[in-house]
This record gives sequence, structure tokens and C-alpha cells, in this order.
Amino acid sequence: MILLTNDDGIYARGLWALYEELSQLGEVAVVAPESEQSAVGHAITLTNPLRVKKVTLDGVEGWAVSGTPADCVKIALGELLPQAPEMVVSGINLGPNVGINVLYSGTVSAATEASILGVRGMAVSLNSYKGSADFATAARLARETLVRLQGWAGWASNGVCLNVNLPALPADRVLGLRFTRQDVGPLTEHFERRVDPREHVYYWLAEIAERRDPDPETDYGALAAGFISVTPIHHDLTDYRSLETLKTEKW
Ligand code: MN
Repeated sequence: MILLTNDDGIYARGLWALYEELSQLGEVAVVAPESEQSAVGHAITLTNPLRVKKVTLDGVEGWAVSGTPADCVKIALGELLPQAPEMVVSGINLGPNVGINVLYSGTVSAATEASILGVRGMAVSLNSYKGSADFATAARLARETLVRLQGWAGWASNGVCLNVNLPALPADRVLGLRFTRQDVGPLTEHFERRVDPREHVYYWLAEIAERRDPDPETDYGALAAGFISVTPIHHDLTDYRSLETLKTEKW
């Protein structure tokens, strides 16, 4: 069984496009947030109860959870599913999750939560913010990527999950698959200052400008060049090089 979740909410097109493709591989259980949870990162719900509702969409049953993507994975594995899934797939997110955005991403955090709980996780995001994006093509590319990599032993054993980003291109213009590292360059963004009808000022984080000449070895660069980017990521945030330095120096 595959557990399918996301951060755009259970009604998002990207989730159901992926459901169509993954259900060709076997049973798929859908447990996803009842409302959009983009950019909630790895947040979990502690101060409110978690409500779980069964919903039926196009004849398919799923669970809508009043929480975050990480909540969905926790409650699916801990309570809702009859047995542990073979894999947790999160997406398809509307918008890429590359570079520093990986840290803010609810989509990626669902996959990370899976690997923390000992289950293979894969996050899938599409390099488009258009509501009309071609999720059918993206979902097919996601399934093909999953099938291609599912034999990789490291995925199951060492707490790594895969962060997959798909170009928003017709399948015949996708250049292939690249294994990448996470870009760590700072984001270029700004707050848009606006005034509401009662003349109160408010701000909206907006417009992340394209980076010039991105490094092709990174998730950002590979995606920009038209490749499917696959980045292995780990929840252990220790910086081992610094640890070694700290341990060898006298304090
Ligand atoms: Mn999202």
C-alpha cells in the first residue's frame, strides 16, 4: 500500500493526478490536510484536537485531516491505516520545492516524516504556479521516477527520503533525470506593502525572482535546465564537518 498525502489540501488537482498514476502500481490510501497547508514546514498540531473526516471524491475514499502534512503521516501510520504502507508519496505540489524552500515546505516534510518513522518517503513538486498546470504529465513522470528508483536499497535503510521536482514541460522536452544537492543560496523575495479598505497597512511576501546562472549540480539548477531533479535528503541536521572540528580543537 502507498500512502498519498500533500500540503495543498485533499481537494488539490495535483494529489488526484498522482492518485491516478500510483493506483496503477497498487492500493493507494489518501490521507491529506482538509485545507491548504503550504509552507507550514514540519509543524505538527499540539494545541488543538485533530479531526479526521472520511471524504469521497470521484468514488475514491480518503481521509481529510484538520492538521498539517506531518500530522497526516503520523495519524495515518499510527491510527488510520491497517498496516504500515510500503511508501509515503507527497504531492504533486503546485510550485517547486528546491533550495531553501525545502525547509519551509509542507510537501517535503510529509516525506521527511515518513523517513523518520522508518518508511520510504518521496516528495513530488511541479515547477509551475499555474492552476492550469499539466498535472497528468507530471504525475506520469512522477510514477516513472518512483518505479525507476524503488529498488534503491539506501532509500529503505538509512532514513533518507527523496525530494523530486518535475519541470513543467511536455514529456518529450524533459531532458532526463539528475541527482542533485540542495541549493543553499538565499532567496530573492520582498514584502509587498498594501493598504486595506480601512487604511491599515499589511504586507504580503511576494515575487521570488529567478536566479541568474544557477549551479547545474543543484536542485534549482537542474530543474531550471529542464531536468527532473532528485535530491536525497535527511532529517539529521547535524553538520558533521563542524562537529569534527569542534571535537578536535581545544576549548
Ligand atoms: Mn503547497
